[in-house]
Amino acid sequence: MRPSILSLDPPALAEAVASLGQPRFRARQLSEWLYARHAGTWDAMTNLPAAMRAALAERWLDPEGTLATVEVAGEEGTGTRKVLSRLADGELVETVLIPAKDRTTVCVSSQVGCGCGCAFCASGLNGCTRSLASGEIVAQAAMAARLLGRRPDNVVFMGIGEPFLNYEAALAAARRMNDAEPEGLGIGARRITISTCGVVPGIGRFAAEGRQFELSVSLHAPTDAQRGRLMPVNRRWPLGELIPACRAYTERTGRIITFEYTLVAGFNDRPEDARALLRLLRPFPSRVNLIPLNPVREFDGRTPSDAVCEAFREALERGGLNATLRRSKGRGVNASCGQLRRARIGRGGPA
Ligand code: SF4
Repeated sequence: MRPSILSLDPPALAEAVASLGQPRFRARQLSEWLYARHAGTWDAMTNLPAAMRAALAERWLDPEGTLATVEVAGEEGTGTRKVLSRLADGELVETVLIPAKDRTTVCVSSQVGCGCGCAFCASGLNGCTRSLASGEIVAQAAMAARLLGRRPDNVVFMGIGEPFLNYEAALAAARRMNDAEPEGLGIGARRITISTCGVVPGIGRFAAEGRQFELSVSLHAPTDAQRGRLMPVNRRWPLGELIPACRAYTERTGRIITFEYTLVAGFNDRPEDARALLRLLRPFPSRVNLIPLNPVREFDGRTPSDAVCEAFREALERGGLNATLRRSKGRGVNASCGQLRRARIGRGGPA
């Protein structure tokens, strides 16, 4: 199978163009088509010689060959769009475009399926089929740029898959999204968030990245007993390893981690849970995103009342934690991530 042209970093792209016997300025023209003008096909790259386009097509997949749109599903009343795309080997991935007032966030997937098995997540049900190449992740942001007619404002690695279990490709993709045009999409590092369910070695590596990407950690419970019931990853990396790794990250980078915490009625929304969470996170700077459970078929937890959610937030704030309560359309889509893909697989497989 031909690799994606979007998997190449700038030196590799220059080398690929040179290997075709083309002068150096052609590499810049190609980059402009890929990252500044968001072209989907070789044919769209009209200022490249036909022979060069033909030679590129023989060796590489263009953006639309990397990721072909199968279905775009709008969510009523929110403007959110879920895009189901087919990869060159027939596998399916899902990308979500989430509009807010004056910006659009793209939620990208980093794997085909997910092996982490979080209890409230539809994506983990069928396991992980394979990790995405960096070009297949970049292609999701490039596809969003084509749909929007401009580059997206924010990218969150909160779609299907665990980015730190596909570290090299996920970070290569984040760098390509962050690189200035025309070598990348030109999205600010602080507008690119990597979200992990708690893969401790990944947090250590991420601390040494040297770019100002944001880090988000899915916590969801303040004790090992509770977290282990929601997130099997907690058995591999319990809180006694996760929290010191987070603290070391903030000390090394000077950056604040956002902890995601899904509120489940009667399970992790009680005053004692707020106190346990304060004990866990207060020793270092952080912020907490509280998300009332968005019910999914696979998990029988209930959504807490608005009053309970607000009381939990206030208890954290009173204790000195920066906490926000979200009921955004984006989280709604995230909570049901993988549903388009699973529906399609259910209809007869990805091929
Ligand atoms: S929430 Fe994320 S890490 Fe957990 S199973 Fe779903 S995709 Fe995987």
